[in-house]
Amino acid sequence: MPFRPRYTGLIENYRDRLPVSDDTRLISLGEGNTPLLKLENIPGLIGKNVDLYIKYEGLNPTGSFKDRGMTMAVTKAVEAGSKAIICASTGNTSAAAAAYAARAGITAFVLIPDGKIALGKLAQAMMHGATVIQIKGNFDEGMQLVKDVAKEAPVTIVNSINPYRLQGQKTAAFEIVEELGEAPDYHCLPVGNAGNITAHWIGYSEYACKAGDKVTESCAYCDGDCKFAKGVVGSKRPKMVGYQAAGSAPFMRGGMVDDPETVATAIRIGHPQSWEKAWIVKEESGGWFDECTDDAILAAQKLLAEKEGIFCEPASAASLAGALNDIATGKIPEGSTVVCTLTGHGLKDPDVAIQQSTAPMVTVDATLGAVREAILNNMAK
Ligand SMILES: *Cc1c(COP(=O)(O)O)cnc(C)c1O
Repeated sequence: MPFRPRYTGLIENYRDRLPVSDDTRLISLGEGNTPLLKLENIPGLIGKNVDLYIKYEGLNPTGSFKDRGMTMAVTKAVEAGSKAIICASTGNTSAAAAAYAARAGITAFVLIPDGKIALGKLAQAMMHGATVIQIKGNFDEGMQLVKDVAKEAPVTIVNSINPYRLQGQKTAAFEIVEELGEAPDYHCLPVGNAGNITAHWIGYSEYACKAGDKVTESCAYCDGDCKFAKGVVGSKRPKMVGYQAAGSAPFMRGGMVDDPETVATAIRIGHPQSWEKAWIVKEESGGWFDECTDDAILAAQKLLAEKEGIFCEPASAASLAGALNDIATGKIPEGSTVVCTLTGHGLKDPDVAIQQSTAPMVTVDATLGAVREAILNNMAK
């Protein structure tokens, strides 16, 4: 007899809140149930009294939150008899699609922007046996091609325009509410296609609403009869705050951006697929969008790595970079509980990490004297 039930992934864990039936074959790699870590050093360093948590989504099986959506999307694709899935990707969606397709025994096609994908993500897609199609264009162009080709070929799109993706991703909000006992005051996320910020809002709303008892008159996801609205906690929902990279910030420009550019390749997206939904999330939650420079993003990534021991990829650090700025200005007031989602693991993008690393790397002779000297020289840091 096991001492405790084996954790078998988020669909099994939230079966009654997800669109699956008892007969559905679940395609899972044990995703979800990621740590909600309280930052212990950074609030003191910035001299602000905030309860600052990070939701470490980089600890999902393929190293990003995309696994939450992919377990649902691939489960439903297989249930519908699909033999192949396809996505456009800045990297993490392709890694997740490739892995879950392998698990399911179906084919994955992934379209990625030529030369603009982090090394770890490319390695994953290739290793899991996906057909990798590099296009001489960016994510937005890839997304359009995927939509067009899916009209002709028997493939299921597993980008976040697939509604099952958001259903899986909403479970991150459930986990946060369960562990904090209520929703946080603010939830900060990096925004690319804006699927994840939308999914979180669905999750928070479902945990706050009871069927027939709408939390707000304007709840876009509940007509008062949502079958998943079971009202677990009080009616509190967080303000949702979305941060974009300054060179790739359509939500700040108020319209699509044709040549997005940022070191944070996972959010190098100029034509967000969940554009309208994300504006509704902002309105309903009383949150906002803002942008971060690449320098601020990289500085937050480094701060987190050096001061908290947490390694995330550049795009993920946009949530913390933005939150730290809003905490510093008081837009997020002291006394608040803030959750920042760290969307992907730092190992995804080793090149950017090594390029910006200032940690001393010294090469010395293999002698006791040389090593002793290297230690003494670097002791005072
Ligand atoms: C996909 C992704 C994002 C953006 O999420 P959206 O749902 O497209 O807004 C942010 N960070 C990482 C690491 C990602 O993989």
